[in-house]
Amino acid sequence: MSFRNGEVAPGRAQVPADLRRRAVDIKGNAIFLDAAHVGICRIPDTAWYEDREIPGHRFAVVLAVEKCRMPEADNPAYGWVEPARDDIAICRAASIAVNIANYIGALGFAATAHAAPVSEVDIERLAVLSGIACRFGDQVLSPFLDDDIALAAVTTEYALAVDLPLAPVRHASRGFRYWWGINGAESGRERNRRRCRPTHLSAYPMEQVRRVDRPTTLIIDDEVPRVPKRASFFDRALAGDLGERTRRQRWRFAYKHPTAYGYMRMIQGMVPIQDGAVNTSADIRAYGDPAANSRAVKSLSYALGADLTGICEIPRYAWYSHVGEGQPVTPYHRYAVVMLIDQGYDTMEGASGDDWISGSQSMRAYMRGAEIAGIMAEFLRGIGFSARPQTNVDSHVLHIPLILWAGLGELSRIGELVLNPFVGPRFKSVVMTTDMPLEVDRPVDFGLQYFCNHCLKCARECPCDAIPVTHTVMFNGYEMWKIDAERCARYRLTNTRGAACGRCMKTCPLNKVPTVDGPLLHRIGNWLGIHAMKLKPLLVPIATYLDDRLGYGRRNPVKQWWLDLEMIDGVAVRPAAGANQRDIDYRRKLNTSREKIAYYPASMMPPPDQKEPCAVDRKAAKAAAAILETPQQARQRVAAGGAKPLHYIPTPPLDPVNKAID
Ligand code: SF4
Ligand code: SF4
Repeated sequence: MSFRNGEVAPGRAQVPADLRRRAVDIKGNAIFLDAAHVGICRIPDTAWYEDREIPGHRFAVVLAVEKCRMPEADNPAYGWVEPARDDIAICRAASIAVNIANYIGALGFAATAHAAPVSEVDIERLAVLSGIACRFGDQVLSPFLDDDIALAAVTTEYALAVDLPLAPVRHASRGFRYWWGINGAESGRERNRRRCRPTHLSAYPMEQVRRVDRPTTLIIDDEVPRVPKRASFFDRALAGDLGERTRRQRWRFAYKHPTAYGYMRMIQGMVPIQDGAVNTSADIRAYGDPAANSRAVKSLSYALGADLTGICEIPRYAWYSHVGEGQPVTPYHRYAVVMLIDQGYDTMEGASGDDWISGSQSMRAYMRGAEIAGIMAEFLRGIGFSARPQTNVDSHVLHIPLILWAGLGELSRIGELVLNPFVGPRFKSVVMTTDMPLEVDRPVDFGLQYFCNHCLKCARECPCDAIPVTHTVMFNGYEMWKIDAERCARYRLTNTRGAACGRCMKTCPLNKVPTVDGPLLHRIGNWLGIHAMKLKPLLVPIATYLDDRLGYGRRNPVKQWWLDLEMIDGVAVRPAAGANQRDIDYRRKLNTSREKIAYYPASMMPPPDQKEPCAVDRKAAKAAAAILETPQQARQRVAAGGAKPLHYIPTPPLDPVNKAID
């Protein structure tokens, strides 16, 4: 709660005069952040605790978060979650309130977040006034969730349309509309389905997906080089390798929209607490069963809000060789707990993928991931195991190989992006590494290689043609559709009509909702995709054709809750260049005869400790296409005992002291 007072921008944003539109924006943001209910009211004088009224704050945004499910009594996580169940929900409610307060602050209006135990107002009273709960005796209950909620509020001077209190009839709303999710709310049927699943399994039946011994794309384990973080194109942009304009944009691209402006404050605030001391006096003998530990760790991850969790051993090559300013990384943990955070179908449905909300979708998921992994790591350290969250801001491991080995998806045509059979490509990942003994998962095969081989939708819809249209290649020991990472990074960083880009995720035919609440067609398609692998040659052409003709990938304007705004010099203004408003273009023809991808293999990466700009050589990178092997050539070379390609050898550090340690 140290960020509870939103940092107020030096100027007021160009927000709509219509108070109802403002309320849609604020409520949409709260729901996007996983609030179960949100309402708005005026604050009566009597709702303030004595002498603690905040001058000028006349409106309250009140939100409720549902408490997590309790793990089963024989699951070790029961003892972990049971004493903390209320606190977990309060923590989430407080986090959402802090984000909303910071968002309103970024709009130039004062706002303060309130949650137990730090509050100047009677939050329960405001919950009743804003129409999200009713008072029955000394209890404040949600009509849908009873007392299974934690409340938080934001008080503000920002004027908003207010809601009416609810009629005090308990359970009145659990009728036909509730059970069928009329008007787009999560249905009672879907809630029941989730409630029936064991708590160590996600909401999605990953246990039904075929398991295999190795990922479905070739990885030559002995040849994959460890690479420095400095080689990622966002880090290269920061160092100036992509030119001055891109370097300047790199500093602001994640903050360009005021919602992300609020999230970034939280994300950066968590970095200093990623590391911590292990409780060496704890008795760890109770944790000798890796299978039970895995079950418990997964249940804990779902209680904290992860959408999908898998576990793997960390291959040597998943550790960065160097981080920061060139500090070598010595691998230190054996296991990775890999968690996926859904970026949210509804918001993605309303967006073009590269408009003003795009960056916020990523940042929300990164923030949520950092919260979950941070709490888990702190907890494991407390019971005696070394553990560290590996977040988007500060990670010692590459996430992609870990997502593959943890059995959460297959590598897709979008290149360095794993696709999950249930949430498709629509997620961000966070990892917690640890030495707690764990049982690992196996990789999955749901036929994605066949699907991506016969679908080009992401390549067709990419605004800068960064996605390959032909076959996979061997890149640094991995078989992949290698995207033009430089071109993609440049577009995401310098997009003038939006913040970042995730258009490939948005338009992918596998970006769907295959739950009880999704359309029947999606559920049938998803079931067939996983269970009827042999029918893929028949079904994939039908699926890709229908996906286009039924208009999937277009924007649904009903879902646009956010305001198109851009932070310029700390003030949110209407973007001068407007907003990207792309829909799909299924008539666009792709030239599959000539690939135009620039490849930067390990030998063309910058030295890991070079602080000055190391300009990219795009011409050489395009010419590097000629030295890449096909997977078949790589297999033959390895079978014949051939040496690994020289371009797999990373550029050494400038200072030999910084040599990587395996
Ligand atoms: Fe293309 Fe955007 Fe996807 Fe990058 S993120 S590959 S620019 S669609
Ligand atoms: Fe694969 Fe098609 Fe999705 Fe691209 S759009 S990742 S080719 S399924």
